[in-house]
Amino acid sequence: MQVDFNAPYKNRVQQALNDPNLRVAVSKATDRMTDARLASMDAVEGQKLRSQVRQMKQHVLRNWPDYLQQLESNLTRNGCTVHWAEETEDAQNIVRDIALQNSAKLVVKSKSMATEEIHLNHALEEVGLRVVETDLGEYIIQLADEPPSHIVAPVIHKRLEEIAEVFQDKLDMPPTREPTKMTSLARARLRQEFFAAGMGISGCNFAIAETGAICIVTNEGNGRMVSSMPRVYVVVMGIEKLVPTVEDAFLQLQALCRSATGQNLTVYCSMTSGPRQEGDVDGPEQVHVVLLDNGRSRMLARGYGEALLCIRCGACLNACPVYQEIGGHAYGSTYNGPIGAVITPALAPEISRFKELPHATSLCGACREACPVKIDLPRLLLDLRSDLVQENASPKTEAWGIKSYASLMSSRRMYESLGKMASIGSNLYAGMSGGNIKFMPPPLNGWTAYRDFAPFAPKSFRQWWKERSKLRGQT
Ligand code: SF4
Repeated sequence: MQVDFNAPYKNRVQQALNDPNLRVAVSKATDRMTDARLASMDAVEGQKLRSQVRQMKQHVLRNWPDYLQQLESNLTRNGCTVHWAEETEDAQNIVRDIALQNSAKLVVKSKSMATEEIHLNHALEEVGLRVVETDLGEYIIQLADEPPSHIVAPVIHKRLEEIAEVFQDKLDMPPTREPTKMTSLARARLRQEFFAAGMGISGCNFAIAETGAICIVTNEGNGRMVSSMPRVYVVVMGIEKLVPTVEDAFLQLQALCRSATGQNLTVYCSMTSGPRQEGDVDGPEQVHVVLLDNGRSRMLARGYGEALLCIRCGACLNACPVYQEIGGHAYGSTYNGPIGAVITPALAPEISRFKELPHATSLCGACREACPVKIDLPRLLLDLRSDLVQENASPKTEAWGIKSYASLMSSRRMYESLGKMASIGSNLYAGMSGGNIKFMPPPLNGWTAYRDFAPFAPKSFRQWWKERSKLRGQT
């Protein structure tokens, strides 16, 4: 079942919860990735690695303009063309112009969340270009006409049977449930696309400021094909994806691979330091690097700079009980899970555009425990909720409820009287329903839709304590 992206947030969540296949597929995969991460982090000094990566990323953020300048001058020295894109449209126009100037008709892409963020495929298709995703997961969801539902595992929401149906429908594959046969077919088709493509596009896992090298990590080698086979290679890179030195790059690489898939190292780590030089037998003739802001500076200015430390490993999604239940599409945003619930509103021109997302969490803290950069995601989510209240963007009923609760809690007499009334009322109601309360009128039915409501205790703690003390002969 596909989530209706135009439906309101609550309906999307309900649709996801009604789909038992989705829950099975997502929980199975996220549990597997979490086990692999824990084992891989245990094999090294995981806590030490996390602290080192955090310190390095914090240092980058404190010296952000300097490292960006250093990167730009080293990229230029290496022969790359650097473009700065402030917002989505700027980045779309830059990449579109490069494609049109080079008469590219077919574009091959390696998996990239930054290009998803700016809806680049759509922008290129609008001017007649054909865009082909070459990461296997991305290829499948492109065939299925769906967006990714996980930062590193875009097709996590689909079971093998559903993927097989996509292959039969879109690639005319004879019915099979054998993954090796399906991947062989995808491999053969994609190879033709690599040979025919006029332009390759990738994101960037990190760029090294001191050398001007762009690094992409993949398990399928498609990133290397995208960056080396077409005549023109374009990198779209969020401006926070920086590391100062080669040593820092390997530090981050270790944390990324171990946290994302539980691998000690991914199968491929490709570094591009510029276009083909005289005497080189292969490589692109042009390399363009688009440095994408798109709200990142805004995010820092708003006080959400800590989220810029994110290395997009997806570990917080795998650990999140909410994500495990509803998957990625119900969030309705490019980035989902706990980090998506933070950066989607924080990157947007108005936080209130995504006002439901800071509430899409149980605040259990599992994401903070999983994060290799120790980002305090629960605190950032609470900060966003607080900002929404300041902007008067939280629901009126919620604001009214909190105000009433505050005035109630500041009057002991009122608190005790209401406590007594709630106890008498709920126990009467529970008695009539034969135990726990199974239905309450709106808006409280949101609770009883999924669980029973236990009646209030017949006596308050204060009353119980008084009686107990009396029995024991104390005052
Ligand atoms: S917030 Fe942390 S755990 Fe989540 S994707 Fe970013 S780095 Fe990974």
